[in-house]
Amino acid sequence: MTSTNPPTEYAYFNQQIRPLSECNISIKTHAFMYGTSIFEGIRGYYLEETNEVAIFRMREHYERMLANSKLFYLTPEHSLDDLIKITIDLVKKNQATTDIYIRPTLFKTGTNITPSLVNTDTDFCLFTHPLGNYLDINKGLNVCVSNWRRVDDNAIPPRTKAAACYMNTALMVTDARYNGFDDAISINPDGSISEGSAMNLFLIKDNTLITPGKTDNILEGITRDTIIQLAKHELGIHTVERTVDRTELYLCDEAFFCGTGAQVAGIASIDGRPVGNIKQNDGQNSALGQVGPITKQLQTLYFETVRAQRSPNRAIQDGDRWITRVPLES
Ligand code: PMP
Repeated sequence: MTSTNPPTEYAYFNQQIRPLSECNISIKTHAFMYGTSIFEGIRGYYLEETNEVAIFRMREHYERMLANSKLFYLTPEHSLDDLIKITIDLVKKNQATTDIYIRPTLFKTGTNITPSLVNTDTDFCLFTHPLGNYLDINKGLNVCVSNWRRVDDNAIPPRTKAAACYMNTALMVTDARYNGFDDAISINPDGSISEGSAMNLFLIKDNTLITPGKTDNILEGITRDTIIQLAKHELGIHTVERTVDRTELYLCDEAFFCGTGAQVAGIASIDGRPVGNIKQNDGQNSALGQVGPITKQLQTLYFETVRAQRSPNRAIQDGDRWITRVPLES
């Protein structure tokens, strides 16, 4: 996707918004040497009719980042409200008339030659980047189960969105693509299912959504929560959060990934086995290897919601606060 950012792209670094070209760190930075940072990925959708950017669930992203900071002795200087204000200011400054990805990072900025987290300062930086679809959301993905195990909560906890976890993601997605797949599903050290390489996973079986539970080495995705709520309140479909066996992947009716980057992306096949039903009674393989009908409904609801074309059902708690509209200059 081509960038429509203005010639000078701005970022937030070292306490202020400045040209991206001036936002540089030393090669001795702790986070660069040891991967000691946590980050968020937030989406802003460009609304052409009103010339605004609709930022989706920004508050929840920053709440998650601030909560996770404690684990790594990251000591953020900014409050939740500061972070929201800085983000709005940067989005306004960049004036991007396209969908964007907003990437805040909290990182260890000291230059000590030791991985210890003690006595290292924390810094915060933020940039925006034009971003269309991270995964193909239309065709139905062909994915594999990765033979790289998911990092475990007791090793590098995936629920923290620590940058270091993404070496694990990188191995999975790289091998998947080299082997001709679109992406990968990760398995836990015990062989149960965790999530996608950088997104959560849902299966649908007998009109119920099934997704690995919060203790299955997943990132507790904000999109995952959005899907659970849209399914419940808009479609009356219940979600079960539980341990998922590998064979359930091959026997489900529908499957899809979701995440800020991934959005809602249907899965057509897993390890070469088409997702869907082999109909018993009429011998027709209806919907075999195609994106299923419930996935399509959820995808539509999701895009209408994030693009501010529908207000979430009133039963959804704080649903009316999901979108922050940032007006751009006309
Ligand atoms: N799992 C992983 C490993 C991810 O990187 C992401 C993307 N942030 C997700 C799940 C989805 O999380 P969210 O919906 O909060 O973006």
